[in-house]
Amino acid sequence: MKHHRAWVGLGSNLADPRSQLELALEELDQLPLTRLSIASRLYTSRPLGPRDQPDFINAVAGLETRLSPLALLDQLQALEQRHRRVRGRHWGPRTLDLDLLLFDQECLSVPRLTLPHPEMARRAFVLVPLAEMAPDLRLPDGNEVATLAQALGDSGNLKVLPNR
Ligand code: ADP
Ligand code: MG
Repeated sequence: MKHHRAWVGLGSNLADPRSQLELALEELDQLPLTRLSIASRLYTSRPLGPRDQPDFINAVAGLETRLSPLALLDQLQALEQRHRRVRGRHWGPRTLDLDLLLFDQECLSVPRLTLPHPEMARRAFVLVPLAEMAPDLRLPDGNEVATLAQALGDSGNLKVLPNR
């Protein structure tokens, strides 16, 4: 079976977000047929959508996996559930959000899964950590992640979280 490279976006703004993310990174490394090969620094950002919620902590992880895209999504959603994520309002607060950003150079559009993640090219909290780890990475449409990150510019919104 072939190894695939998958990139996963992590986000949390409830219940000690830093610990949620640190634990989730360890758990990603424990998923079946999967290992964590690289993780970005942690970043903080103001929430998208409703403003009356805590700041988010975000990171991006690079995985090596032998799972299929949908099998990996199943695992990510099970992991979200284990963090007792309560699905409330759209873009509302959450203990752990795991988005499958890229899976090799695959393009997919089925009800449960769109690849690449449809919002990733507009999100600094995804592009900046990705570019930090993989400056030469391109999307299937040929756009370079680092170039997209620069094009978004610094809204002053995204900050590296200092070590504790
Ligand atoms: P959001 O991340 O936009 O706040 P959710 O995490 O609640 O929303 O995900 C909503 C749905 O998005 C899930 O049911 C999932 O099946 C679907 N989905 C489609 N494409 C992806 C992807 N690339 N990564 C994660 N979920 C996806
Ligand atoms: Mg999500």
